[in-house]
Amino acid sequence: METSIDVGIIGGGPAGLSAALLLGRAKRSVVVIDAEQPRNRVTRESHGFLTRDGIAPGELRRIAREQIGAYPSVAFVEDTAVSVTGADGEFTITTAQGGLYRCKKLLFAVGMKDLPLEIDGLADVYGKSAFVCPYCDGWELRDQPLVLIAKGPRALHMAQTISGWSRHFTICTNGPDEWSDEEREELRLHDVPVFSSPIQQIVSVDGMVQHVLLEDGTSIPCRGIFFVPLLVAGSELPKSLGCQTTDSGTIIVDPSGKTNVPGVFGAGDSATDKYQVVMAASLGSMAAAAINGELLAEDWNRGEPLLP
Ligand SMILES: Cc1cc2nc3c(=O)[nH]c(=O)nc-3n(C[C@H](O)[C@H](O)[C@H](O)COP(=O)(O)OP(=O)(O)OC[C@H]3O[C@@H](n4cnc5c(N)ncnc54)[C@H](O)[C@@H]3O)c2cc1C
Repeated sequence: METSIDVGIIGGGPAGLSAALLLGRAKRSVVVIDAEQPRNRVTRESHGFLTRDGIAPGELRRIAREQIGAYPSVAFVEDTAVSVTGADGEFTITTAQGGLYRCKKLLFAVGMKDLPLEIDGLADVYGKSAFVCPYCDGWELRDQPLVLIAKGPRALHMAQTISGWSRHFTICTNGPDEWSDEEREELRLHDVPVFSSPIQQIVSVDGMVQHVLLEDGTSIPCRGIFFVPLLVAGSELPKSLGCQTTDSGTIIVDPSGKTNVPGVFGAGDSATDKYQVVMAASLGSMAAAAINGELLAEDWNRGEPLLP
């Protein structure tokens, strides 16, 4: 079955849902196509979003969909968009289950994806006692003994950042540290313990890390881990439509969320390197206003008379 709408939103996380809310309130017909694979699905609690601190990510989405449900022109589809073709004013989205959606404007809110976690045991603790962002999860691990898994300049940046939450941490570089002599000296001056032996295993109970075991036999007891994730774009569809991206796959957008392709917008993790729910929601909202602005201008310029 084919459906014609104003705006197709691919991705129903905080960015896509925030855009849907604004567009629904602007009387736009919208479909939100979401494969239900948000990056934060591994975690039990999401922190730092005003009025929703500590909420389960799935619950945040549930409340959002419930409230957006008040706007009848917004539809939700649980499916994966597999192709997008067309141009401004007449895009076609095809989904894995055979849905066809024709839309005037398109918003990619497809998030980012973690590459498979190579370290044995890391997947067991990811989102429970191993995290990637101290602003999201540092408070729960404050003043605890931590292991930072990082190398190169990012390890120094992470050490400096984490020191605001806990001053008891060890760096595991999981192989060659990739530091300059100056960087090694900086860590030595701050008495940061450093181990470069590869990690054999992260030992945990019910997702809570107990210790990090290195191949040289060293065991480092800790209550939490921060590590640098390896990310890829949540979807290749923006690229397939000609959207410019950075080397790391982030869609390049202007401050309103516009990509280089007319009629196509990006928002949320897929269009920024600031990975926060509040940021994603805000970018979704801004992109929605820009999309609606374009639609309003197009309608106005067609010169259809207002009601007498
Ligand atoms: C472990 C962890 C903990 C975090 N904790 C916090 C926290 O405490 N506080 C905080 O502010 N932030 C936190 N974050 C970051 C936060 O999760 C993201 O910034 C936020 O979810 C981004 O929202 P988004 O809408 O851009 O993307 P997502 O929430 O990732 O949603 C993208 C959606 O697009 C869908 N999608 C992708 N491609 C397609 C397609 N082709 N067809 C259909 N659907 C598609 C995906 O399935 C997904 O549902 C955390 C992240 C992680 C990994």
